[in-house]
Amino acid sequence: MFDVIFIGSGHGAWHAVQTLARAGKKVAVVEKDLPGGACPNYGCDAKILLDGPFEYLEGLERYKGLCVDQTGTIDWNKLMAYKAKVIGVFPQALIDVSPQLGVTFIRGKGKILDAHTVQAGDSTITGEVIVIATGQRDAELNIPGRNSFITAAIFCRSKTCRSI
Ligand SMILES: Cc1cc2nc3c(=O)[nH]c(=O)nc-3n(C[C@H](O)[C@H](O)[C@H](O)COP(=O)(O)OP(=O)(O)OC[C@H]3O[C@@H](n4cnc5c(N)ncnc54)[C@H](O)[C@@H]3O)c2cc1C
Repeated sequence: MFDVIFIGSGHGAWHAVQTLARAGKKVAVVEKDLPGGACPNYGCDAKILLDGPFEYLEGLERYKGLCVDQTGTIDWNKLMAYKAKVIGVFPQALIDVSPQLGVTFIRGKGKILDAHTVQAGDSTITGEVIVIATGQRDAELNIPGRNSFITAAIFCRSKTCRSI
């Protein structure tokens, strides 16, 4: 039996997971998608990394014709490859570090069966405490053009980039 079971492995969970594990608690984390959740994979870090070159270009555009002759273009494939190289390693790193921290990391969907039982993928685990750290769902906006929208998670996995 675990002391604490976290469903979800994003920032909302991970800081508490580490603290509890270091304090000697038996901790399990259940994650159905990318370990680490939104922030490192398709949120904060991905956004900063993908946005960076565009910010530079935008800045240069302001000086075009004044003191800058040419600005440039961004190669989406290379940018995505760069992103994959920098942050694509994170999910596996989190799995790899878990045993060192004494954390049991389980890939699969977590479903609460009763107050102390969680179905974690194909297995069933029990815990004294269950923490729901499943983040948020993307809101579907009821506005014109909504069919053109994609979520950050899909955008950050896109193989191609198109203007709309
Ligand atoms: C594009 C973008 C940019 C952002 N930029 C910033 C920023 O610059 N600064 C900032 O502070 N914040 C930023 N955020 C917000 C930040 O990413 C979130 O606040 C943070 O990730 C929330 O953490 P969380 O653990 O609550 O949820 P999440 O990170 O969403 O983690 C929840 C996890 O639970 C998993 N899960 C859900 N249901 C189940 C289930 N049944 N079983 C198993 N696993 C499940 C999900 O797969 C997910 O991995 C950004 C978000 C986005 C989308």
